[in-house]
Amino acid sequence: MPSWPIILAWGLPWTLASLAAIWLLSALFRDRSRGRLRCPRCWYDMAGAGLTCPECGKQARSERALRRIAQE
Ligand SMILES: [Zn+2]
Repeated sequence: MPSWPIILAWGLPWTLASLAAIWLLSALFRDRSRGRLRCPRCWYDMAGAGLTCPECGKQARSERALRRIAQE
């Protein structure tokens, strides 16, 4: 006959910890994949705006250029 209080006492924290870790990791990867594209000149949010900044007309060579600057 298993002693449920002991199993719960050990299992619950681990379950919560692994759930928290999974949630944290998924949030991290979701942020990374979505990224934050910002205009390198005026810092305008370029999400969905393409490679030309609608605010100041700055043209980026690639989406990666916006992403790299945004990460600094
Ligand atoms: Zn701009």
